[in-house]
Amino acid sequence: MEVNVTRRQFLKLSGAVAATLAVVELGFDEKSAKAQSEEFKIAKLTPTPTICPYCSVGCGILVYANENDVVYTEGDPDHPINEGTLCSKGTTVRQVYTSEKRVTKPMYRAPGSAKWEEVDWDFALDKVAKNIKETRDKTFMEKENGITVNRTDAIAYLGGAALDNEECHLLQKLFRAGLGLSYIEHQARI
Ligand code: SF4
Repeated sequence: MEVNVTRRQFLKLSGAVAATLAVVELGFDEKSAKAQSEEFKIAKLTPTPTICPYCSVGCGILVYANENDVVYTEGDPDHPINEGTLCSKGTTVRQVYTSEKRVTKPMYRAPGSAKWEEVDWDFALDKVAKNIKETRDKTFMEKENGITVNRTDAIAYLGGAALDNEECHLLQKLFRAGLGLSYIEHQARI
């Protein structure tokens, strides 16, 4: 009879067999080992699949989180791109959440100032919207050398690898079709 196992099932099975052999051969107390394994930090957590935000390879990552913390991250063995592997950047992705240097509020540096200061989201969004409108109004070109171009070269947009297809579609509509930007780039182009 043919038995079909997924990659994840195979890895779990291999791990279970190896663990059982180790227990039997080394004479460990199986019940005690099982009790201890239930205290492993991710034993009772359900992983949430996500995509690595760093580059356009787009590796799959499993995030184990409780109510207060991201406890552990690892490569997703079921993901077709990376099949459970991660590079050194992806392996340390948990630090995006845990780093003391993580910026959690919008920061603003006023013209001429050398100091960044925390601002609220209303201020930040209003400021961005106002600057975009003023810049576009000042620099929008309907024609260049007699050819209709309907664009501004004074604003650029930089996206990131964490954007999904639907978000990219909406952003293209807004920035390219809506505002006339031609400088639209991505941090992870390879
Ligand atoms: S940074 Fe590394 S882990 Fe993340 S998507 Fe790129 S190759 Fe994959």
